[in-house]
Amino acid sequence: MTGIVVLGSTNMDLVAYVPKAPQRGETVTGREFRTVPGGKGANQAVAAARAGGEVAMIGAVGTDDFGVVLRETLEHSAVDTDLLRTAEGPSGTAHIVVDDEGGNAIVVIPGANGTVDHLTPGDETLIAAADALLLQLELPLAGVIAGAEAAHRHGVRTVLTPSPAQPLPPELLAVTDLLVPNEHEAALLTGIADPRAAAEALLRQVPQVVITLGAAGSLHAARGAEPVTVPAPRVRAVDTTAAGDTFVGVLTVALVEGRPMPEAMAWASTAAALSVQRAGASSSMPYRPEIDAGRL
Ligand code: ATP
Repeated sequence: MTGIVVLGSTNMDLVAYVPKAPQRGETVTGREFRTVPGGKGANQAVAAARAGGEVAMIGAVGTDDFGVVLRETLEHSAVDTDLLRTAEGPSGTAHIVVDDEGGNAIVVIPGANGTVDHLTPGDETLIAAADALLLQLELPLAGVIAGAEAAHRHGVRTVLTPSPAQPLPPELLAVTDLLVPNEHEAALLTGIADPRAAAEALLRQVPQVVITLGAAGSLHAARGAEPVTVPAPRVRAVDTTAAGDTFVGVLTVALVEGRPMPEAMAWASTAAALSVQRAGASSSMPYRPEIDAGRL
């Protein structure tokens, strides 16, 4: 039995640090270049595995060198990659320019991720045996819907991060058990800026919502229950990249272990607070003993 299956993206982030981003037709000299393994799917898989989940990843890397590194990054954190396909062509890449004011501009090229528009029989068997399926929106929508519907058919809990934000088709909402948007995504999905009111509106479409609120914590709403806000620990954040993915991955481990939602949210908040104090994406994610110790 595999506890958690992630159906999602793997991307190599190619990050250029520049004093000021170039305008059209302009060339600028940057300060530094880094390659950072990422993709929301891979990040959530690493977060959940480091938190003690038994995690398998379904998705695709390319036949380029990035594909090798992306696969190894997952395996290094004990994520099962047996069903991570290798698709002829380039891996997914995110081309990121970060300026001195911390602003960024990003081009994402899906590459191999774009091939994951269907499930194989092996994927469905793996999903059927899981306790939870984690999904985001960096794969073709057809693949995401196929995964969520398969999970639903087999009574497996689905946890959807609606990022990058886009309108959600009714057939996906119909098979989503827990929706975890950040506050911007929640506002975009509902047209309502206030997170509490946005959560209430989302409950008309899914049975449970957790909205992440950055340094302000997270808000849980479920049909027929009072909304609960769990504060985030106060820490000095140096890099919030993948804070949301850390939160969702760790939250799901706790839920699969049968822990009550407020306790799961507090545990996930501790993990996310640990990760934002360190530079990096998946490399900054904490391991279980550190989350349990909770020293921030
Ligand atoms: P990202 O896109 O950076 O991965 P996100 O926008 O999806 O993040 P956020 O709501 O910003 O998600 O953050 C997710 C969780 O991470 C929050 O609910 C909180 O628990 C934690 N977190 C984020 N920023 C901070 C911070 N500055 N201090 C403490 N905790 C934080």
